[in-house]
Amino acid sequence: MAADAPMFDPAAWRLTDFEAEWTAKARDLGRRALAPRAARHDREASFPAGNYRDMHREGFLALCIPREEGGAGAGFRAYCLVAAEMGRYCGATALTWNMHVCSTLWTGALTEDLEMDAATRAGHRRRRAIHYRRILEDGAIYAQPFSEGGAAAAGAVAFGTTARRVPGGFVVNGRKIFASLAGHADYYGVLCTETREDGALSRRDTLYLAVPARAPGVSVVGEWDPLGMRGTVSRDLLFRDVFVEEDAALMPPGCYFQAATRWPHMFLTLSPTYMGLAQAAFDFTVAYLRGEWPGMPPVKRRMYPTKQIAVAQMRTMLEQTKALWFQAVAEAGPDPSKDQVLRAWAAQYTVMENAQALAALAIRTCGGQSMLRSLPLERIYRDARCGSLMLPWTAELCLDRLGRECLYEKGETDG
Ligand SMILES: Cc1cc2nc3c(=O)[nH]c(=O)nc-3n(C[C@H](O)[C@H](O)[C@H](O)COP(=O)(O)OP(=O)(O)OC[C@H]3O[C@@H](n4cnc5c(N)ncnc54)[C@H](O)[C@@H]3O)c2cc1C
Repeated sequence: MAADAPMFDPAAWRLTDFEAEWTAKARDLGRRALAPRAARHDREASFPAGNYRDMHREGFLALCIPREEGGAGAGFRAYCLVAAEMGRYCGATALTWNMHVCSTLWTGALTEDLEMDAATRAGHRRRRAIHYRRILEDGAIYAQPFSEGGAAAAGAVAFGTTARRVPGGFVVNGRKIFASLAGHADYYGVLCTETREDGALSRRDTLYLAVPARAPGVSVVGEWDPLGMRGTVSRDLLFRDVFVEEDAALMPPGCYFQAATRWPHMFLTLSPTYMGLAQAAFDFTVAYLRGEWPGMPPVKRRMYPTKQIAVAQMRTMLEQTKALWFQAVAEAGPDPSKDQVLRAWAAQYTVMENAQALAALAIRTCGGQSMLRSLPLERIYRDARCGSLMLPWTAELCLDRLGRECLYEKGETDG
């Protein structure tokens, strides 16, 4: 079968050679390994462990580990482009892989843009090398449980999960909900708040600690039987007096707060998965209407003007989404302008909302047989539905911030 066309043609979108190479690798992996396994993991709500073994062997787990430390050295834009290609074939795998990759991207390329004194930076580089070695040599998987069911994951208050400093490390206590990779990750990159003597919790004291999955006091609880993204296995995590060594720190104290404030595009990294799902909904529709979907009778439906209009609408929506998203991921970096931050919110909102709108339009246009579980479209539709719920940049919160920031300059009030 002919290879799938790139989502972002390297010549048309002026990709680097590195981006062209790794997006091609992702399409190959997606088509060869991820797509054939996706239906089973979706049906069983089971974790795609085989995909992770393949991704380790083929270098994807180390995509964003700096080159001088043994990885491929992908930056933000390259990661986003590769992840979007991955999302075309298995949304759940792309979404969990995002959690793993961020553990390396945020500690790698992103921290290079943060301010810290020379000793702190040397300590950080030494510690992150420990984490990178585990990934490179053992295929260790890192999860990213932030959400707690309160206002912390939205960035409004400090995380309720706490870390108390003790000789040699920290003692972690708390609960995380929706922890993708729960029970399958080797380390949980937990965001928590370092406790102070007065007991007050502050966002400035956020720590980012890699808690070993097998550490005493860590447990995975609850069911996982959701509408979509079933292969993420996002169950709840409990931490009861879990001791972690100082080297568990994925960032030095104060750095996560600095990153969240100065590098806001770090929260755009969930969008590539849904960019890929939007493309997948469109590609399916075209193949289906042309009577070319594998395993289906070669019945053509493309000659009906109603179908053509719907596909035209879909293509327009897809092009709008890709153009805005590409611009937003291309301008990610430290201390973006206000305009760039507004664009990042608009891009996140657009991808998350348009992915599900495209999938819904695809089902309406292709018709009844297209939503049978033997075909991927109904899974794409359910997976796409989950995008706008992702904190801290849910569709609601993006609109909320966009509206306010468009109308108010810093410090302005109506009083
Ligand atoms: C498939 C899947 C995988 C996930 N994987 C992970 C993961 O790996 N790690 C992780 O940390 N989380 C993960 N999440 C969780 C996700 O990011 C959200 O934290 C979670 O969906 C929020 O749950 P809720 O909508 O019940 O939250 P609620 O707190 O009830 O929020 C509901 C809505 O209210 C709005 N809202 C929330 N807080 C505020 C506020 N302060 N001000 C104004 N509006 C607000 C938001 O729009 C939000 O969508 C995952 C979610 C899904 C669906």
